[in-house]
Amino acid sequence: MEYRLARNAVVSEYRKGRLSRLDVCDAHPELLRAARNIGIRLAEDCPICEEEQLTHVTYVFGAGLPAQGTCPATPAALARLCRRAQEVACYVVEVCPACAWNHLARMYPAGGRHRTSAIGARRGKAEQQGNG
Ligand SMILES: [Zn+2]
Repeated sequence: MEYRLARNAVVSEYRKGRLSRLDVCDAHPELLRAARNIGIRLAEDCPICEEEQLTHVTYVFGAGLPAQGTCPATPAALARLCRRAQEVACYVVEVCPACAWNHLARMYPAGGRHRTSAIGARRGKAEQQGNG
C-alpha cells in the first residue's frame, strides 16, 4: 500500500473543498500531546494549515504492550522495542500540532523474525562508516 498516495488523495480532497478541516484535522488529544512532546519534527510544512512543521509520532503495537500501543519517547526506546523477541508493528503517523491534521505515514513490522533484516540493513551502513 502506498501511504503517501493515500495521504495526498486526502489533502487533494481537502483542497477541492470536498473534505473540511473537521474531517481531516481530528488528531486525538493524546496524539497531539505526543506530537508536541516527542514528535520528530520534519522539514515539511503541514499541507492543511501551512503554518506549522509536521512531526512524526511512532506507535508500537505488539504482545505485552498496551492495547492502545506505546509511544517510545526517544529513538533509543524505539530501537529497543524493534529488537524485541516478539514481533511488533510500528505505525508512523504524521501530525500537525497546530491544526491537528494527522495521517498514517507508514507501517512497518519489527522485532521477532524482522530483527535480522533490520540489523542486516543497519550493518551495511555501519560498515561504510567503519564502526561495525
Ligand atoms: Zn496544520
